[in-house]
Amino acid sequence: MDESRYDLMVAGMGPAGITAAVFAQRLGLKTVVFGDVPGGSVYMIEALTNFPGLVGDVSGTQFGTLAFAQAQQEGAFFPMARLQRLSFREGLFRGIDVNGSTYRSPAAIAATGRTPKLLPGIGTDLRGVHFCSVCDGPLYRDKNAVLAVVGGTNAAAQHALTIARVAREVIMICRLPSMPVDAAHRSQVDARDNITTMESTTVTGLRGSGQVEAVLVTRADGSAEEIPVDGVFLAVGWQPNTDYLDMAVDRNAEGYLITGGRLMTSFAGLFAAGDVRDTDLYQVLTACADGARAASHVMAYLNQR
Ligand SMILES: Cc1cc2nc3c(=O)[nH]c(=O)nc-3n(C[C@H](O)[C@H](O)[C@H](O)COP(=O)(O)OP(=O)(O)OC[C@H]3O[C@@H](n4cnc5c(N)ncnc54)[C@H](O)[C@@H]3O)c2cc1C
Repeated sequence: MDESRYDLMVAGMGPAGITAAVFAQRLGLKTVVFGDVPGGSVYMIEALTNFPGLVGDVSGTQFGTLAFAQAQQEGAFFPMARLQRLSFREGLFRGIDVNGSTYRSPAAIAATGRTPKLLPGIGTDLRGVHFCSVCDGPLYRDKNAVLAVVGGTNAAAQHALTIARVAREVIMICRLPSMPVDAAHRSQVDARDNITTMESTTVTGLRGSGQVEAVLVTRADGSAEEIPVDGVFLAVGWQPNTDYLDMAVDRNAEGYLITGGRLMTSFAGLFAAGDVRDTDLYQVLTACADGARAASHVMAYLNQR
């Protein structure tokens, strides 16, 4: 088994992890980054239009590939393997990747993002099925579109409010008898003429060939209905990717890693950046900012030790 010593291990090759690697290398920290997709989730972004300075249609894949090349140029090491387990032994973090190689470092950054929860039995291979309203809502601008939001939480309400600005009609579908939104979100939703809510309604499937055409639902009384739509935004939650962490770390109720102002978790030396962290905006820009800040706080932490 190969055991290599680094100053910093970064789990995740998305915007947070790659930016952390660029900044850490430039601060003189020998850095290894685990992952198998350069750019992480950005490959799902058709055009990264809300990142300052990127005018024109820069795809997420282009952005991720360039950022990856930049981190390589700075000297970060990419074994191109995901991290199987991160533990802490004898004063050092110990990472084992999926190929069985072992790495050690005095500090680590968790930047492994999050995965959208799916609805049981509902495929997401049709065009027009989305998870991010800020990102994909603008695709429906000036299209006179009818869009469905599946879910009834505050996050679902935010999706509905975002896409209501571009859609003709937004239908929120919630399986509970009353949507679990707070009063502020409820009143904002109610104030929008073009948002309707369907409660006690369970989504059982989607119809369409290539492109989504309708949402299939069942009402509380057992009746079934087909709702024609142009797009569907799934807002049934996200799952932060933290399975590989073999240590006790404070998390919020949804499993996101809780960090202090310097982005360190409750486990000394373990920092978190990007979408895996309990934060308030989940975007490329904020993930990059987290990565940069986490790297500089790692530096300060190592200097203090
Ligand atoms: C469909 C869609 C469209 C979006 N559109 C936009 C947009 O237009 N603009 C915008 O700013 N944001 C957009 N976002 C959000 C943006 O992609 C994320 O906020 C951003 O990618 C988060 O970066 P991250 O580095 O924290 O995580 P990620 O980009 O998710 O990267 C983390 C990576 O780590 C991997 N990983 C998980 N476990 C391990 C492990 N054990 N070892 C190694 N790697 C692991 C994950 O698979 C993932 O590849 C969109 C998201 C989605 C899903």
